[in-house]
Amino acid sequence: MVQVSQEINFTLIDEVFSIQKVYALKMRQSTAIERIALLKRLQKWINTNKEDIRKAIYADFKKPYPEIDISEIFVVNSELKHAIKNVESWMKPRKVSTPITMLGSNSYIHYEPKGVCLIISPWNYPFNLALGPLVSALAAGCTAIIKPSELTPHTSALIRRLVEETFDTEQVAVFEGEVEVAQKLLSKPFDHIFFTGSPSVGKIIMKAAAENLSSVTLELGGKSPAIVDRDADIKDAAEKIVWGKFVNCGQTCIAPDYLFIQRSIQPQLMEAIKIQIKKMYDPSGKGIESSKDYARIVNNKHLKRIKHLLADAESKGALVYTGGYVDESENFFEPTVLTNLTEQMEIMQEEIFGPILPVLTFDEINETIAYINSKPKPLALYAFTKNKDTIQQLFKGTSSGGAVANDCVLHFLQNELPFGGVNNSGLGKAHGHFGFLAFSNQKAVLKQRIGFTASKPLYPPYGITSKKIIESLLKWF
Ligand code: NAD
Repeated sequence: MVQVSQEINFTLIDEVFSIQKVYALKMRQSTAIERIALLKRLQKWINTNKEDIRKAIYADFKKPYPEIDISEIFVVNSELKHAIKNVESWMKPRKVSTPITMLGSNSYIHYEPKGVCLIISPWNYPFNLALGPLVSALAAGCTAIIKPSELTPHTSALIRRLVEETFDTEQVAVFEGEVEVAQKLLSKPFDHIFFTGSPSVGKIIMKAAAENLSSVTLELGGKSPAIVDRDADIKDAAEKIVWGKFVNCGQTCIAPDYLFIQRSIQPQLMEAIKIQIKKMYDPSGKGIESSKDYARIVNNKHLKRIKHLLADAESKGALVYTGGYVDESENFFEPTVLTNLTEQMEIMQEEIFGPILPVLTFDEINETIAYINSKPKPLALYAFTKNKDTIQQLFKGTSSGGAVANDCVLHFLQNELPFGGVNNSGLGKAHGHFGFLAFSNQKAVLKQRIGFTASKPLYPPYGITSKKIIESLLKWF
């Protein structure tokens, strides 16, 4: 039975790819008005179906409604509004200056839609991370096939419904399913692949893309550090770190993965973190497990993975400062803070992607820079300090996809900034204009005059005159 439905899917994938290939040629001619109309259709569907979006995501991992509103619906709406407002200017050809050696010609950059694009998205922000890239693809004039995550089936089915009710299949299509569906899709010669997920799967995507020389945007993950220096505002830092770490139950690609605290303020900051966890998730004192404002781990497999990270760390000497309670039947994992860590612990080697916050200490800021530089480049880096020089020292001394001073996670919401990683944490940039560019071919256009041109005197045969011109070219230009 399963095989039959997969076969149908696989044939359908071939068919949909072919019709999108044809339609992409039409989309290539699309005007700003036509693209805005598509974006507005998407916007309308979202605004009229907010309750269904909330219900679907809640059914997948009990994500609290306010968190859905902020981190899924608002984020996509904001991306949509930004694209609707700016797409016309993004599409305008950009004139470039003409060097004296090219006198007589003129040049510009034409932003051409790449064509048929594949969007593969993860489960942790299942709506936002499938629809956000779609906004960029539509703004750029591309067609798209979306493969949402199989781990959030309610949201994936909702995304499929959204697309079926909003677009023609030749414009946008959705294929739900497991890894085999992704693999089948990856065998097609897409013009661009936009992948969000883990670095290990990112490598598989890049290898598959290489077969067709499809361009890729890889939005990956990794271990993003937060550094709190001695002069930081302790209460303020605790509030921001606790929110950034435990929102979505720690399942955020840009959550602070681990904390580096300057030794002299460690006791006060850890106490402030403990107080803040209680304030946010247990104000009534009934236990965090009864909080409606705390999401769950997406499934039992991931719960076991995170439990294992905790058990491995404890068996090697880590101490639970606060938290540690797990209810497997509910996929509940309490916000947990760990101290006494060593590099041998798995939790210090792999992305945690769950609500455990390991705390390291340092004396001088240079130690944190050396540590971070000895690891794969993170997706984000957070610095908490009042000292502008320390911020510069950290931001210039390390490499990361993004960097934030005195807050965390929020750079994702700043549409004017490129969002993405570097090397192990990603390749290429997303959001706003940068998302538009990811789905566009920046075509170099040069228009030459007819008749005499500045380069004709250089054509062979190379006589005395052409040699003299070449000599002066080398000397003066
Ligand atoms: P994942 O890499 O396991 O899966 C992502 C997508 O890839 C899913 O749709 C899945 O079906 C597909 N996939 C899985 N294995 C595949 C294979 N062998 N071949 C082809 N496709 C395959 O990631 P996940 O567990 O869904 O998400 C968590 C990861 O995503 C974390 O590492 C996190 O940091 C990262 N992430 C990054 C960002 C970002 O914007 N940079 C955002 C969210 C999550």
